[in-house]
Formats: sequence, C-alpha cells, structure tokens
Amino acid sequence: MDDLQLMQNVLDRAERIAAHYGVTGQDATTYAQSLTHSHWLARMGMYSSGAQQAVVKIAEAHLPDCPGEDCTLCPPLRDGLTSVFAGLRELQNSELERRVNQRPALFGFLNRRREA
Ligand SMILES: [Zn+2]
Repeated sequence: MDDLQLMQNVLDRAERIAAHYGVTGQDATTYAQSLTHSHWLARMGMYSSGAQQAVVKIAEAHLPDCPGEDCTLCPPLRDGLTSVFAGLRELQNSELERRVNQRPALFGFLNRRREA
C-alpha cells in the first residue's frame, strides 16, 4: 500500500465515523474555508490543533468511565496523547526559541481563523 492509498483508507475510516457524529463533507469544507492562512503548513497546524484538543477532551471524559486493564480505548488514547504531548512540547520550544532570538512569528497561530 502506498502513501496515497493509506491516506485514502484513513480518510474513508474518518468519513464513516464522522458521519456517525453528524459531520458532513460540507462541514469539512466550511472548516477548511474558515482558515485564513495561505501557507499549507499553517493550515496543517490548525487541523492538528483541532484534533489535539479533541484527543485531550476525549481522554479527560473517558477517565472516570475507564474499565481499567482491559480497556480498548486507552491504548489509542495513549498513542494520541503521546503525539499531542510531543507536538505541543516541540511547538512550545520553537516559540520560546523564536522569542529569545526575537524572530517574527511565521504564521501568527493566534490569529488563525476568520471572524464569523
Ligand atoms: Zn480506558
């Protein structure tokens, strides 16, 4: 399986589960259009940020109901949280380094979405 096939498989899976939660292709298009940055890397950061926040919220909500040792949700949550933790730590280190070296912000992540 090449990378494009892998992406399509993940996208198909995401679309199926998203539909279960009432998310449509139009919702995804509207979200993408709300991102103001023209640089693809900044947009990818915004998409990741939304997923990161979701992983943290799901993990927080799951904790009181976790059945424990045999839980099937904890391993993927652990993987997701590891990715969130590593990504945010790297982003924070990069921002601290940028401030120490007084470089301008690359993308202005704090002003990332259009006003409604
Ligand atoms: Zn669990």
